Amino acid sequence: MQLLDGKALSNIIKAEIKEEVDAWMAQGGKKPHLAAILVGNDGASETYVASKIRSCEQVGFTSTFVRLAESTSEADLLKEVSKLNENTDVDGFIVQLPLPKHISENTIMEAIDPAKDVDGFHPINVGRMCKGLPAYLSATPFGILEMLERAKIETTGKHCVVIGRSQIVGLPMAILMQRNTYPGNCTVTICHSRTQNLKEICQTADILVVALGRPEFVTADYVKEGTVVIDVGITRVADDSKKSGFALKGDVMFDEVAPKSSHITPVPGGVGLMTICGLLTNTLKAARKEIYQ
Ligand code: NAP
Repeated sequence: MQLLDGKALSNIIKAEIKEEVDAWMAQGGKKPHLAAILVGNDGASETYVASKIRSCEQVGFTSTFVRLAESTSEADLLKEVSKLNENTDVDGFIVQLPLPKHISENTIMEAIDPAKDVDGFHPINVGRMCKGLPAYLSATPFGILEMLERAKIETTGKHCVVIGRSQIVGLPMAILMQRNTYPGNCTVTICHSRTQNLKEICQTADILVVALGRPEFVTADYVKEGTVVIDVGITRVADDSKKSGFALKGDVMFDEVAPKSSHITPVPGGVGLMTICGLLTNTLKAARKEIYQ
């Protein structure tokens, strides 16, 4: 079994991004600038945004953090989005999900200028990704592809099973894994809460991407020997032995699945850190105007 160590790999990628930023600025390029909007006080979202902002400092980006109250109306959030769309110094920005229930995530995502949509959630970026055109790829699937590529994992002709069909993880992951390129060229099966015989389908996977948000759902009997297991799930589970009062759990029962896997990602220290690398890479592309002029 080989551990796909997101911590070590993300440090390498961040160092590479920093070098690229230095080279870009040495040629007179503008310092990349990422902004993040956080609505409300969700603990996990606060941690993610703080980590994204910290990563910006590590790679030499400017960052802006816009914090809004839980009670912010959709109209007021749209105004903030509009301000960042118009701010010529901001190259890319994200609105941290999930949003409070009274705000439509689709409405907000569609209001973001696709050229600044470095999370890759705008329908134009999703559509361009589906057509194989240059686009900002959703940060989490992008980070997973990078992991597969750097570990030189064979994907061509393999059966990739994705559990979860969310707009931000499962669906784009499935689309990317079937593309006629590397990593890709898989035969893909997407599973969701209405899938019948989920376990039997998973047992036929060469590559299993798990993104359903149920801690330790995938047990050893879901995987065959030699499967590549990518655990996207992150759930806070109460744990009195931790200072924070919670532990982070993936969707895979790591201890029993790892011995059967050829490669596996840990939680924490796996996909989450690679997601940030995806976001940083998209922001550098935005600053260099590689996709949109
Ligand atoms: P989501 O929007 O809640 O989607 C969950 C998906 O799993 C849905 O498609 C759902 O099916 C499916 N599902 C739920 N229960 C199922 C079951 N018993 N059997 C089969 N499928 C089931 O979640 P998400 O945003 O994709 O996130 C998934 C997990 O990844 C969460 O733990 C989240 O925190 C984590 N995450 C991690 C990162 C990272 O950077 N590592 C990034 C994003 C998300 P239906 O469509 O039928 O409801």
